[in-house]
This record gives sequence, C-alpha cells and structure tokens, in this order.
Amino acid sequence: MRPLVIAHRGASGYLPEHTLAAKGLAHEMGADYLEQDVVASRDDELIVLHDIYLDRVSDVAERFPDRARGDGRYYVRDFDLVELASLSIWERMNADGSPVYPERYPARSGDFRLNTLREELAFIRRLNEETGRQAGIYPEIKRPAWHRQQGVDIAPRLLEILADFGYQHAQDPVFLQCFDDVEVRRLRQELDCPFKLVQLIGNNSWGEADTDYDALRSAQGIRRLAETADAIGPHLSHLYEVRESDGELVPTGLAEQAHEAGLAVHPYTFRADELPPGFSSFAELVRYFAIEIGVDAMFTDFPDQILQLRLP
Ligand code: CA
Repeated sequence: MRPLVIAHRGASGYLPEHTLAAKGLAHEMGADYLEQDVVASRDDELIVLHDIYLDRVSDVAERFPDRARGDGRYYVRDFDLVELASLSIWERMNADGSPVYPERYPARSGDFRLNTLREELAFIRRLNEETGRQAGIYPEIKRPAWHRQQGVDIAPRLLEILADFGYQHAQDPVFLQCFDDVEVRRLRQELDCPFKLVQLIGNNSWGEADTDYDALRSAQGIRRLAETADAIGPHLSHLYEVRESDGELVPTGLAEQAHEAGLAVHPYTFRADELPPGFSSFAELVRYFAIEIGVDAMFTDFPDQILQLRLP
C-alpha cells in the first residue's frame, strides 16, 4: 500500500503555508490528510499557524510595530483574533526578510489571511461534502508547555472543537501530533483522547520541548512509546545515513524498530525544493522512503508530486 500523503501546512510548496488556499489546493490534489498546526491567540482562540511567532509569515511588524516582545519577536499569544485576522499572511521569510524557499510563492505578496481551527475544519468539511472525497485532519499541538505558561491549555480546547465537528471516535480520520512526550501521554491517559497519536521526534538541540529525543529513539524508548502512541514522526535524517566509504544509503534501523513495536512511521518533510543528502531527485527520495524504509505516511509540501508517482 502506498504511504499516506499528509499535506504539510497544506500544499505549502505552492501557496503560503496554512492558508485556506493551500489547504484547498492540497484537497484538490488528493492528499489523504491535511495538517493543522495549532497555537492560541490572546483571547484563547485556536489559530492554525506553524509558529508561536507571526513575524516570519506576516506583515505584523509593519502593522503593529510596537507590539514585539523584548526578544524582538511578535507572538500570536499577544494578539486578539480581530487583530490576527487583519494581517496579511505571506510566504515564509528568514529573519532578514529573504524568502526561505525562493522558488515558491512570491515574497510579501498575495491576499491571504490566517484562519482559526474552527474555520479550517468547516472549510475541510465542506470540501469533503462537495467533492465526496474524504480528507482526514492531522492537527499538531504546538508548544503545549509554553502555552500553559502563557495561561492557555490547548489540548482540551482542541478536543472540544474536534468533537464539535464530529471527530470523536478512534476510527475517525484524525491523527493528533506533538513534539512534547509528556503531552502525548497526557492526551491518552488524562484527556481520554480517542484518536491516533503521533509522537514527533526532533533533535534535542532544537529546543522544541523538554523531551529527550535521544532517549525516545532508543530501543527502550520506542517500546515505551508504543504503550501510548500509534506512530512516530521522525525527521528524514533519523531514518537513514549516507555511508561515508561508498555513498550508499543505509537505514538506521529506527523504522524497523518502530514497526516491530507496532508503531507506524510518518517522517517529515518531503520537499522537492530541498532534497536531503544522498538524493538527486524528489522521485528517488520518495521511492527510497516508500520502498526501502517502508514508511507508512509522508509529510510533504508537494502532495501532487508524491501522488503522481507509481508506488507499491
Ligand atoms: Ca507541524
């Protein structure tokens, strides 16, 4: 069976990430799941945006120049929904304002807005109804410990909103993902989350959560994870290495270990314009992960380019 295709922030290779346009395009392309990163506004609305910051994907600095924190960053949590909804959402920029992906949607242009989780779920429901093709949802709780420090607990609110949209059962097309392993266990054990849970795996150096990813990726860590989670979401680089002596690609064994423990493997991120070491084309990359590593799903900015390939 071909791996599931998860539209990473929508069809973000073509349109600014997390806009409804990017989600609509991904649905049209036939992605199996559409991803929502979830953060909270000052008035506790759940917003679909990749970062707790606004400055790399919007005109916030021009519109609200005096609203940065001491670190110079503009936080979603410091703005009400009305303010957030007035921002222009742009293709992702680096700190110096240059585009992260120069070949993508033109920098600082387009008439895009951010959306709440409710707006996005309503949009997806309508697309599913109108096309008769059911795309699932794949929400990520962003920085749960940080959000609690800021006075808002995302997980229970998220579960409530999902229930409002009819997502309530284990068999519903939902994967819930988080980098924080405490939150993943809490979702299962305390919040009675019925959905499939994905433990995202980063590198400790990223500071994404207090989670020890080295421990998580150990044989013992994977077995323990299998008690609460249904899948791991590792970085591509966690699953293979380029052997120095001859340039051959060698699996690290993490995917195999996860499968043996009963965990599915959903790595990120398959980008046609950012190939990882050892690959000379996107098709080669996708085929290697589908066939040699045997992944179960793929986070991608380019859903159409995976779906066009003939995969076993
Ligand atoms: Ca994400």
